[in-house]
Amino acid sequence: MKLIICGTCSRRLDVYVDASGVRDIHPPSYVADHEPVPVEAPDGWRGHCDFCFSDEPVAVLPTNDFPVPHMPASLSRGDWAACGMCSTLIGADRWERLVKRSVRKTADHHEVPVDVALLVSTIALFAALRENIRGPLRPLAEEAGSDG
Ligand SMILES: [Zn+2]
Ligand SMILES: [Zn+2]
Repeated sequence: MKLIICGTCSRRLDVYVDASGVRDIHPPSYVADHEPVPVEAPDGWRGHCDFCFSDEPVAVLPTNDFPVPHMPASLSRGDWAACGMCSTLIGADRWERLVKRSVRKTADHHEVPVDVALLVSTIALFAALRENIRGPLRPLAEEAGSDG
């Protein structure tokens, strides 16, 4: 499966489906200040952590595609990448901390206070994600290995 990212912010894009067809959109917990520019990710692309959107991923959480809560017709696509800190929190089952970290990082990025609506939607998003985890965190190798 090819990975679609935004050419402007280098974030992984989700799929949005409505009557007019399929579109690529920014992930629901990332508040973008620009329109997504779908491009195919280059080989070896790692981008950003899908949980906190800040650091480079060191592991991947195998995840089924799932509908995003509060965003009808929106679909989370593929595995979720996690940076070192987020991997640690996931491994320790500290999902409340993970939600706080994600919301805090988003607020910091936009230099705004933490938004309650974003907090609520992130809690719901991560709860839905947890029901669709297919297996344990898989560390990303330095060099591209054979994938499963
Ligand atoms: Zn973007
Ligand atoms: Zn992270």
